[in-house]
Amino acid sequence: MDQVDVVIVGAGVVGLAAAVEITNRFNRFSVTILERHTGFGQETSSRNSEVIHAGIYYPSQSLKASLCVEGNRKLYRFCESSKISCRRTGKLILARSDSDLPHLQALYLQAAANGVTDLQWLDQKQVLSLEPHARSAGALFSPSTGIVDSHQLMSRLEYLAKQNGALPAYRHEVIGLDPLAEGYRVAYRNPDGTFEALRCRWLVNCAGLAADRVAAMLGIDPAEAGYQIFPCKGEYFSVPYAKAGMVKRLIYPPPLAELTGLGIHATKTLDGRLRLGPNAVYVDSLDYRVDPGHAADFYGAIKEILPFLELSDLEPEMAGIRPKLQGKGQPFRDFVVCHEAGRGLPGVVNLIGIESPGLTACLSLAEMVAEFID
Ligand SMILES: Cc1cc2nc3c(=O)[nH]c(=O)nc-3n(C[C@H](O)[C@H](O)[C@H](O)COP(=O)(O)OP(=O)(O)OC[C@H]3O[C@@H](n4cnc5c(N)ncnc54)[C@H](O)[C@@H]3O)c2cc1C
Repeated sequence: MDQVDVVIVGAGVVGLAAAVEITNRFNRFSVTILERHTGFGQETSSRNSEVIHAGIYYPSQSLKASLCVEGNRKLYRFCESSKISCRRTGKLILARSDSDLPHLQALYLQAAANGVTDLQWLDQKQVLSLEPHARSAGALFSPSTGIVDSHQLMSRLEYLAKQNGALPAYRHEVIGLDPLAEGYRVAYRNPDGTFEALRCRWLVNCAGLAADRVAAMLGIDPAEAGYQIFPCKGEYFSVPYAKAGMVKRLIYPPPLAELTGLGIHATKTLDGRLRLGPNAVYVDSLDYRVDPGHAADFYGAIKEILPFLELSDLEPEMAGIRPKLQGKGQPFRDFVVCHEAGRGLPGVVNLIGIESPGLTACLSLAEMVAEFID
């Protein structure tokens, strides 16, 4: 049986970032990334809004807050130094009427508690000067929110990981994990359908929507550990190019308590398209089709702040699925990033529930993983 120092399960943005960070710090370590698909980032990492979040919304002291705030700065620096397309578009969180202003006030305070100190209050006129086609009673402006080309980001991470000697093995699905006297036996399915195994000292579970099942392969009961994933789908609708130019920045409604996500918002892509979404619907299967029947809900959610849109403008675009740890109606759950020595599994690092802002936080999550290995 072949032996490596580290096996990473999953070549999404987090698994790739972890491979780069580990090989940067421990240059003699052998690292293998086992990924079941034909290439990197074919699940959640390529089905998201590509927003570099500022860290406004998450409860203070949570990993989501701290890793997002830190990850935001790291990601801009990394993209700038690596020539990865990204843009500080800025984001407006609009008050639809005066009654939304207390929600924005609460957000302002939450953001400050998280270390996001650059938010600005804009009155109606100032909003119009930035976004003449948006309607509001004022807004919070976040200058450090932006967008990134997630494919370019992953492509660069994969390149750096390989350059440092890491081996991404695509079409290699992990099917079993067994603790050994020292380290772990990782059984996987080869592209030709045969089975093999390798041995590792460190096992990093970055399996996204399947992270609870990968943890279960080690004998962890996901329900008991609080690791069970509740998939929650987010659909997007696109807007015709002619109208996309009427919005320049990211435009969000206030995130109200009854919403599972941040509310249907408008995101500009780097190539100038405008997309609406995502919604948030708990699902039982990983079906990425967009239900055209949801267009009316999207339109209802956005028409008040972007009144130039018509229902007939909305075209189904794509969907992603969040690996949520909180089930429907349950309270906030943070990212799980845990070295499982306490469960008798030294060398196992589980990353579970890495939903938004996981793209923003990928470099910080990777650093946490490498620190456990240190
Ligand atoms: C609708 C939506 C919008 C979002 N918007 C944003 C945003 O704007 N900004 C932001 O910061 N974040 C956003 N996110 C969150 C972000 O996309 C994720 O946090 C991030 O992509 C998670 O990356 P990952 O590497 O952990 O998981 P993934 O990208 O899901 O990668 C996991 C990988 O593990 C592989 N795998 C699973 N099981 C096995 C196995 N047994 N063997 C081998 N391989 C396996 C999978 O094939 C997959 O490639 C959004 C998410 C969604 C769904």
